[in-house]
Amino acid sequence: MLRSVILAASRSTRVERLVATAPFSRDVVRRFVAGARTDDALRVTRALVGDGLAVTLDNLGEDTVTPDQANAVRDEYLTLLRSLAEAGLTPAAEVSVKLSALGQAFDEHLAYDNVRAICTAADAAGTTVTLDMEDHTTTDSTLDVLVKLRKDFPSTGAVLQAYLRRTESDCRELASAGSRVRLCKGAYKEPESVAYQSPREVDKSYVRCLNILMSGDGFPMLATHDPRLIAIGEDRARWFDRGPDGFEFQMLYGIRPEEQARLVGEGYAVRTYVPYGDDWYGYLMRRLAERPANLAFFARAVASR
Ligand code: FAD
Repeated sequence: MLRSVILAASRSTRVERLVATAPFSRDVVRRFVAGARTDDALRVTRALVGDGLAVTLDNLGEDTVTPDQANAVRDEYLTLLRSLAEAGLTPAAEVSVKLSALGQAFDEHLAYDNVRAICTAADAAGTTVTLDMEDHTTTDSTLDVLVKLRKDFPSTGAVLQAYLRRTESDCRELASAGSRVRLCKGAYKEPESVAYQSPREVDKSYVRCLNILMSGDGFPMLATHDPRLIAIGEDRARWFDRGPDGFEFQMLYGIRPEEQARLVGEGYAVRTYVPYGDDWYGYLMRRLAERPANLAFFARAVASR
């Protein structure tokens, strides 16, 4: 119920205005978002890489409605990739891209041209791109774009969401040599017709999908903060003899940093997903919807003002 309310608020421009102008927002945002500028992204990346983590950077933006906005997002990624290479942070750092930020909702061709330009720049910078997955209405078109991109950029990564009923079959499809697949639970509000609704069903689906990916020929990227699923990932890594070159854990910036450090200490490859940019509202609201403790943190920041 609370999750639905917060996810509904994440689409409300009135609530967005309220939250964005509230004095407490800066502290809350800073915990989960690297900052507004490319330099902030570089600073945080440098620190994480220094701690033995790999990074994937997301330039926040979901409400792209004009070609100019879409092209501006593309240009920011091109600048970021150049800066990462110049700073010697590739290949440890790669980028995550939302097709909606590149124009997918109003011009699929434009979004494709933009993501292709980003893949070309990533290739030149010696690193990779992962296509974030958004709500279920975009799954087919995002996977179609992936197939086209992989012809020229075979290491382009995909994201599959365990809450979708179709995902087991998508995992089978993508568990092939050379493919990189991030498995997450899924962050959007989806109808029962396409998605499991109970946490237990989602977790069971995650384990089925994890088994398919870890026993397959691709490179699994296990994106979760869930201690039980991480333990199952560690178990399957031993079972299928996958070392740090064979799979990685992924977690979000600001969430369970001590667990990220523990896994690095155990010799696992761990990648932190680092969002940056002005357009942090939708991202922050999804994080708050996921976990009551994040809401408590939010409330404490308000109370301390
Ligand atoms: P949850 O069910 O949220 O949490 C399970 C357990 O994990 C909790 O009970 C608790 O024990 C522990 N935990 C969780 N948060 C905390 C915390 N803050 N502190 C301490 N313990 C905690 N979603 C998409 O839809 N598309 C994407 O492209 C996408 N990319 C992602 C990339 C990465 C790297 C990650 C980590 C997530 C991504 N997500 C994406 C979000 C994902 O779908 C989930 O919404 C999000 O990760 C929460 O699910 P969870 O697996 O962490 O488990």
